This record gives sequence, C-alpha cells and structure tokens, in this order.
Amino acid sequence: EAKHQNRSFEFFQFEMDGKALDNLVIENDLYHALEKNQLVVVFQPQIDLCKGEIIGLEALIRWHHPTHGFVSPGKFISIAEETGLIIPIGEWVLRTACQQLKQWHDQGLPPFRVAVNLSIRQFYQQDLVEKVKEILDETGLAPEYLELEVTESMMMNIDHTKKTLDALKQLGVQIAIDDFGTGYSSLSYLKHLPVDRLKIDRSFVSDIVSEHSDVTIISTIISMAQFLNLEVIAEGVETLIQKEILESRRCMQIQGYLTSPPMTSEQFSEQFPKLQQK
Ligand code: C2E
Ligand code: CA
Ligand code: CA
Ligand code: CA
Repeated sequence: EAKHQNRSFEFFQFEMDGKALDNLVIENDLYHALEKNQLVVVFQPQIDLCKGEIIGLEALIRWHHPTHGFVSPGKFISIAEETGLIIPIGEWVLRTACQQLKQWHDQGLPPFRVAVNLSIRQFYQQDLVEKVKEILDETGLAPEYLELEVTESMMMNIDHTKKTLDALKQLGVQIAIDDFGTGYSSLSYLKHLPVDRLKIDRSFVSDIVSEHSDVTIISTIISMAQFLNLEVIAEGVETLIQKEILESRRCMQIQGYLTSPPMTSEQFSEQFPKLQQK
C-alpha cells in the first residue's frame, strides 16, 4: 500500500544511521512505551537576559527504548502522529510537565512557566480544551504558568485556529508560536490570534554570524513582535556571539545549549541555583 511505502522510505534514513529500527517495530514498541514507563520529559531553560533569570522551561519528550537505546522525538513523533498515539502521549507529556512545575513551585522555586509542544493531531482533537482544563485542575497548576507551543503549519484552517486558541486563552494559558519564520504567517493573521510569544526558529539563529540576511530577518521579527505587543524568544542559541547579536537587536529571551541542554527533572533541580546566576 502506497502509504506504507512512503513510511519505509522515511525510515531508510534511519537504517543508514546504523539504527536498524523499523517503523513497524517503533510503532509496536511505542504503543507500549507509555505503560512501560519508557518515556521521559526533559526540561530546557529559557532565560531573560535583562533580568538574568529563568522565565520558563520547555518540556521535551525522550524515549528510552530497552534495546535501541535513546530514540529522539524527531524519529518517533511523526509515527505517533500517524498512528494517533500522539494523543495519549501528548496528554501524558502535558500532565507530567504540569505536575513537575507545580512541585517545583511548591518547593519554593520562582514562578517560571512551562512550555509544552502541541502536535497537529492534538490541535485538531475535539476535546483538547477540556483536556487541558482537566489537567490544570488535576495538577493544581495555575493556568498562567502553562504555555502551549503551536506552529504556523498547524494553522491552515484559520477558523479552527482562532476558535481553539481563543478557547485555550480563555482558560488562562499562554500561547507561543514555535519555529516562527519557517511557515506562512502575516501580520494581519497574527493580529487576530491571541498569541503571547514568538519563538524565532533555530535556523535563523544558527547562521546569524555569517549570514547578514538572517540578522535582518530576526530584526524584522522583533520589530513586528513589538508592534503586535508580543514577546520574542530565540531558540537554538549555542554561542556567546549569537547571544550578543541577539541582545544588540533587543531580543532579550533566549533558549539553547549556551545556557543549558534539556535536563531531566533531577538534573534541573540540581543545576537550578547555578543557572539562576548566569
Ligand atoms: P522544537 O519544539 O523546535 O524543540 C527544540 C529542539 O531543539 C529540541 O530538540 C531541543 O533539544 C533542540 N535544541 C535546544 N537547544 C538547542 C541548540 O542550542 N542547538 C541545537 N542544535 N538544538 C537545540 P528535541 O528535543 O530533539 O525535539 C525535536 C522536536 O520534536 C521538537 O522541536 C518538537 O517539534 C518535537 N517534540 C519534542 N517533544 C515533543 C512533545 O512532547 N510533543 C510534541 N508534539 N512534539 C515534541
Ligand atoms: Ca517547541
Ligand atoms: Ca522550535
Ligand atoms: Ca523545530
């Protein structure tokens, strides 16, 4: 069947990487990954350069497969999407991230937020808003500490997008547009959506030193964000020089390896005092 062939093609790359993971194996194992506790949420700090403080953490999923070892989300999220497994998995990430943040707040850590990625399937899920509300109630996390990351590519249907984002906003959560600049968006589009933050895609940041056009793109995104009264964060900031260029363009929020890689909750608890001083 054609669809299956497409998938095999996708996974050719995989085997070339030396990982003999077949899509059917992944699909089957992923089905059990949740109940076998093989999924982990890691957290990557987001820093405000003005305050020199952590303002948030992005929650990112990891899969520790018993025989294939670490499988990165880039390799299984698309399968989870296709099979629908992303619905229970996404819900688990959301619950785990909210629970963990609530615990850190209760332990007296400052009130930073947690950002959770939504997949397109979740975004078009009928009861998404109720699910988010349920998880906030259940974990006791105040809604303003949860940020949901969506991408421009999910927003093909503008009516659905507006309806869903308005309803999420009504709950009190924050909305970020992930990978910003890589998809379709226009000023008028953004103006009508209840968005709080733009995340400048890593691809613009990575070439910021060599490619002057990327500096221009970033400056344009920043002016646009100011005009629309949105916050901006740059992702994938790896070097001091990238940070300095961003700072000079008044992009004062950064996330990336320069500050810290994503960490397990234990690692974060341990690293927190040091990170806060950076
Ligand atoms: P993303 O949402 O754009 O997440 C940022 C990715 O960049 C993460 O990769 C992160 O580890 C990586 N990263 C962070 N700082 C740097 C840096 O300085 N340099 C470079 N080169 N990379 C950096 P990760 O964790 O492998 O996730 C890949 C993608 O998988 C994510 O991209 C997101 O689209 C998806 N994903 C991850 N977790 C989830 C999840 O819980 N749900 C859904 N639906 N998607 C997820
Ligand atoms: Ca993201
Ligand atoms: Ca991103
Ligand atoms: Ca990305």
